[in-house]
Amino acid sequence: MIENSTWGVILDRINDNGLDTEYSIFTWDLGKVKAKATSVRKITSKLAGHLEPGTLARLRLVQKAIDGNYKIAESLIDERTKDPRAMSALLFVDRMTPILQTDIHLFAFLKALVSGEEEGSEASHYRKVLSILGFDPEHAICSICGEDKIAYFIPQDIMFLCHQCLRKTRKGPDQRGVSF
Ligand SMILES: [Zn+2]
Repeated sequence: MIENSTWGVILDRINDNGLDTEYSIFTWDLGKVKAKATSVRKITSKLAGHLEPGTLARLRLVQKAIDGNYKIAESLIDERTKDPRAMSALLFVDRMTPILQTDIHLFAFLKALVSGEEEGSEASHYRKVLSILGFDPEHAICSICGEDKIAYFIPQDIMFLCHQCLRKTRKGPDQRGVSF
C-alpha cells in the first residue's frame, strides 16, 4: 500500500453500490484520480460531508498494491462551493481530463473556482478550462464552416461550432456540449 497526502477538488460522485462510493477527484500532485470511500452513506460516516462535489479537501489516499485502485482514507474540507456555474465547470473538467495527468494550472483554477476567487459566467469558466487544456477558444474556428465566432464546444469530438452550424448539426439534447 502506498499512502499519499494531497489536496484535491471533488469533481463528481460517480457511483454508489451501497458499500463503496466512487468519486472523481482532481488532485494537486496526481492529476485526476477515481477513488472509493467505504460506507459513506452511513449516518456515522465522518467522510461523507467532506466529499461533496465542489469541495477542496485535504485528502489521504491509499493506493492498493493489488490492483492500483485508490481508496480515500481521510478527507477534510478546506473550501466548498455550491455555485451552479462552478459545479457545471467541475463536471466539464471531469469530462475533459484523462486519469493521472498532472496539471498545476488546472488545479490552481479549480482551487480558485471552489474558493469563490474565480468569478464569472458558466461560459467564461468553460473558456478558461479549454484554454488551460490547450484548446484556446480565442483562436478557435468553427470545425465545419471556418467562421471565427464560435458558440459551442463538443467534448467527445474536440470540436468547436458556430451558431449556424450548431443549428444544422445538432442531433438532440443528448449531445452534451457546452455553449459560450
Ligand atoms: Zn460554422
